[in-house]
Amino acid sequence: MIETDVLIVGAGPGGSSCAHELRKHGMEVIILDKESFPRTKLCAGWITPGVLESLKIQPDDYPEGMVTFNEIYAEYFTLKGKRPLTFRTTQYSIRRYELDNWLLKRSGAEFQVHPAKAIRKEGNRYIVDETFSARYLVGAGGTHCPVFRHIFADLNPRSASYQVGALEQEFPYQWQDDRCILWFGEHGLPGYSWYVPKQGGYLNVGIGGFSEHMKHSRVTLRQHWDLLTRKLEDLGLVNGHSWKPKGHTYFVRQRARVTQKDNAFIVGDAAGLATCDLAEGIGPAIESGIRTARTIVNGGQVDLSDIGRYSALGSGWKANLFSAVLDRKGTFFRDKIYGRNFRKKEDLYLQSSGA
Ligand SMILES: Cc1cc2nc3c(=O)[nH]c(=O)nc-3n(C[C@H](O)[C@H](O)[C@H](O)COP(=O)(O)OP(=O)(O)OC[C@H]3O[C@@H](n4cnc5c(N)ncnc54)[C@H](O)[C@@H]3O)c2cc1C
Repeated sequence: MIETDVLIVGAGPGGSSCAHELRKHGMEVIILDKESFPRTKLCAGWITPGVLESLKIQPDDYPEGMVTFNEIYAEYFTLKGKRPLTFRTTQYSIRRYELDNWLLKRSGAEFQVHPAKAIRKEGNRYIVDETFSARYLVGAGGTHCPVFRHIFADLNPRSASYQVGALEQEFPYQWQDDRCILWFGEHGLPGYSWYVPKQGGYLNVGIGGFSEHMKHSRVTLRQHWDLLTRKLEDLGLVNGHSWKPKGHTYFVRQRARVTQKDNAFIVGDAAGLATCDLAEGIGPAIESGIRTARTIVNGGQVDLSDIGRYSALGSGWKANLFSAVLDRKGTFFRDKIYGRNFRKKEDLYLQSSGA
């Protein structure tokens, strides 16, 4: 049996940030991941200044390089047509293939490739696959995290109405247009699609929508993807590419969350913490990992309540007060922005395309 203070299942941003903070306080940590690193992670890789703040780095400290956007270009589709929007803001893009590998190395924790399966408690220790034994167990294995399944599924049930489905592809491409572009609600999509240029000649293209509305849609996510790729070709943003998208689902933030039971914890997507408006989960994964580590070091109950629920509002008590007033259940964006008239927009598209 391999013994350690803390066993972390999953080496994404949640697990590695937790490990980094624990190592800073001298704790013995082993991180398990079913994949060897670097590994591909489906993600647009769009990060906010808040993520850099949590990591306590400046863009130049990141050795793999990031693209900085000083504006985000967007189009919001209504029944009357499209409304162009430009947001003056500083945002960044990274490749998850690189970021996650860098975060893992930076953590200084021991890493083992091991798909965690069976979890049980014996006395005050957690035993994983009869191979690892730890006083503390952190589930950072994303949507399909086994720690969530074994310990938290009943305490912290996930509701399909907070689920998001996404399709994307990241590939080497000498992009000419260096803008980050978002399209909201096109053809009745209850979500948005994106074009995100990356450092080193990579491009990420994707599409995501709330499952709650997608299950009533007459245009499937795959059909929306085909419409997006055709549009990118028509606009000259991507030429001559052979498209092979992959899909993944995860959960945006519900209000009541139980992320600690005795000495077991869940962080990031395992806890369903992505923001309710843009479904960004890197920042919440990192912050929840750090706070969980501090709880392990200092004792007490982990508190994730002030991690921002909205990308657009940021974090802190003012943002939380505003989001509580705006949206107690976390469904305002899902229903009032993305869900608004989506069936009528679909009708318009289906009529115009003759489908
Ligand atoms: C298409 C798409 C686009 C996205 N775009 C953005 C974006 O632009 N910005 C943003 O902020 N968020 C984005 N997100 C969300 C973001 O990717 C996640 O919220 C974030 O990765 C969560 O981090 P995590 O550490 O919790 O989990 P993950 O990054 O999912 O890491 C979990 C790790 O656990 C490992 N694992 C799983 N099961 C086991 C097991 N049984 N044993 C051992 N290891 C296991 C996995 O291999 C993985 O390495 C996007 C998501 C998708 C699907």
